[in-house]
Amino acid sequence: MQFSLSFPDIHQERQGNTGVPGVWCLDSGHAGRCVMISALIHGNELCGAWALKALLASQLQPRRGKLILAFCNLDAFDRFNPEQHDASRYVDEDMNRVWSDHKLSQDQTQEQRRAKALLPWLEQADWLLDLHSMHEPSAPLLLTGPLPRNIELAQTLGAPEHVIVDTGHKDGVRMRDYGRFSDPDAHEARSLLLECGFHGDPDTPAIALDLIARFLLASGIVDAADLPQDWRRADPDQQRILQVTHAIVAPSMQVRFSQNWQGLETLPEAGTAIGDADGQPLLTPYDHCTLVMPSLRQLRPGVTVVRLAQDYQSPKT
Ligand SMILES: [Zn+2]
Repeated sequence: MQFSLSFPDIHQERQGNTGVPGVWCLDSGHAGRCVMISALIHGNELCGAWALKALLASQLQPRRGKLILAFCNLDAFDRFNPEQHDASRYVDEDMNRVWSDHKLSQDQTQEQRRAKALLPWLEQADWLLDLHSMHEPSAPLLLTGPLPRNIELAQTLGAPEHVIVDTGHKDGVRMRDYGRFSDPDAHEARSLLLECGFHGDPDTPAIALDLIARFLLASGIVDAADLPQDWRRADPDQQRILQVTHAIVAPSMQVRFSQNWQGLETLPEAGTAIGDADGQPLLTPYDHCTLVMPSLRQLRPGVTVVRLAQDYQSPKT
């Protein structure tokens, strides 16, 4: 898949207005939610940088509450090369695995140090929208985590078509799962992670802006008329909510897929082989099993290579 999304010039945007590089705080001075939108947690995921650049250029200001914008892993972004875009995902370690008190108390990697600088902003945020893109071509996915309040917010937003109820990664804590975002009792906190499509897909910034418009409006910090009209795209006919039941983690480098899975394939019968790991077949555990974000591009022992999902059953019904 060709990388055809151009590299954004953010030399002005990376200055920020907070004293922390890449961090902007737009404060209405009135009561309201504190909303944070983050981009470039992974340095090769350019769609979020394009979207935040467009947001700043629009001069949108919150009417209520605060809006924090963060260009996160600038050091990784600075190493971007479209020929080897995976190499600029991070510098020392994946910045979306460092958001635990344990890792944040350390000072050993560039990502730990940067996360610590971002932390005071993240801790203020009531709502977080974290913008990402994917290793492989795919329809956009909105990842909610398991808490019903985030699933409900995804339904309120009404897009994208595919919503994934997931449970994070074994190899570290994501920003969107940090602290109260994953506390069942923190009723005000909301966090969503948007995967806009393939890293190099030129449509991904528009996907991000559509969700930004929906998210800001739902948060109440802007009015509909404040938003540039061309951000909002048509609603999908319906949303499909998929609950991740299994994350297949590579036990070693000996992992193969039986087909070039694109993601969102639904396999009708339990026991269908999707590949093998260490010589053992990887079988679907139930009927009507959907593959989510299959990828061997980042294959290392401990990395999630595919998630398995079933249609979500709301706990209320
Ligand atoms: Zn990412």
